[in-house]
Amino acid sequence: MKFCPKCNSMLLPRKVNGVSKLVCSKCGYEEESAEKTTLKTTVKHTVHDKTLVIEEETASAQRIKGVVCPNCKNDEAYFWMLQTRSADEPATRFYRCVKCNKVWREYE
Ligand SMILES: [Zn+2]
Ligand SMILES: [Zn+2]
Repeated sequence: MKFCPKCNSMLLPRKVNGVSKLVCSKCGYEEESAEKTTLKTTVKHTVHDKTLVIEEETASAQRIKGVVCPNCKNDEAYFWMLQTRSADEPATRFYRCVKCNKVWREYE
């Protein structure tokens, strides 16, 4: 704790134009603070392993011909099976158009 040499009041730390100073609140006396300001830069690296569902699906997907896309009428699509409801029900077959990327499912 530092005190003002003029009026013996407590000096308060204050920043003046980016410089840390000790300023007397009573008479306005100020002196440069001996305390040096250190800039702390904390860089956080957070790696999130985000695996998109669509990527997983496409990885196991097979390319098939003869399936007509309801969107652009292209006859080539990727298809994959997916268990959507309970395990005792048959897996739903999904298609993804190779041309316009539309995804649709097949109802049997
Ligand atoms: Zn003072
Ligand atoms: Zn299409």
